[in-house]
Amino acid sequence: MTTSRNDLLLPDLPEFQAGWVWLVGAGPGDPGLLTLHALHALRSADVIIYDALVDERILRLAGNMAELVYAGKRGGKPSPKQPDISNRIIRLAQAGKRVCRLKGGDPFVFGRGGEEALALVRAGIPFRLVPGVTAGIGGLAYAGIPATHRDTNSAITFVTGHSASGEVPDCIDWDSLAKGSPALVIYMAIKHAERIAAKLMAGGRSPDEPAAFVGSATTEHQRVVETTLGRAAIDVIEQSVTAPSIFVVGNIVRLRSALDWLGAIDGRVLNPDPLNEGYGRNNTETG
Ligand code: SAH
Repeated sequence: MTTSRNDLLLPDLPEFQAGWVWLVGAGPGDPGLLTLHALHALRSADVIIYDALVDERILRLAGNMAELVYAGKRGGKPSPKQPDISNRIIRLAQAGKRVCRLKGGDPFVFGRGGEEALALVRAGIPFRLVPGVTAGIGGLAYAGIPATHRDTNSAITFVTGHSASGEVPDCIDWDSLAKGSPALVIYMAIKHAERIAAKLMAGGRSPDEPAAFVGSATTEHQRVVETTLGRAAIDVIEQSVTAPSIFVVGNIVRLRSALDWLGAIDGRVLNPDPLNEGYGRNNTETG
């Protein structure tokens, strides 16, 4: 038997046992961002139940015998109900299958992974959780925007712009966020971008504050639209920003002119002094 160089590099990975469910984060798109546990799960699973935001290139890594089951929205049809998905996963596990429940990004970040895991606990199904790179972290990195940077922010908040009822979540204290969080990463923000921006500005944020939409992050269709809080809603329309996108607000966005490493590969000249020029200049030149 020969051992490939890659196998030698792999640590001991836990066995994917029959009758178990692994709740696996697929990351935001780029298959290179999968964890080793995720890759191992894809290769060992009997059934892979995947969501809409899982990149096709990742599904191609599944073992040859794996059955692929789609559990997301398609063509405007309503998505399968959460209890139906959970019941299906439970039935498959009870039938002795190795079930890989594959979710975009991280299962526990706006991914309903907690609900599915709770259903497994209640049904007595053993499970493992494999975290993934969430869009708010991976997408920022691929846009050349650090999540934290000492000169701009020591805190960052992940927020959803969309509640279960489809509205801007009213359980979020936008006023406090505007005052307390120097950087915000808003998931599912496109539909309500105008209202979210308005709430943040009503809470005291400047319309000139830098912001950006990072769409289809880490995929070949990645598109970054830099804007400001005041212009964001206009740019969603004028620049045809589409889902999936994250909406990032804060001075960290200014660092993109220096750190857009993907742009640099395509010839962009990077600005070595990003915080002294461009957006938000007036905000930082005090004192
Ligand atoms: N569990 C996922 C989030 C699911 S909610 C995670 O951890 O990333 C769906 C939202 O995630 C989308 O509306 C969008 O805001 C964001 N998202 C997911 N994948 C994305 C991608 N590749 N690029 C930009 N945003 C993405």
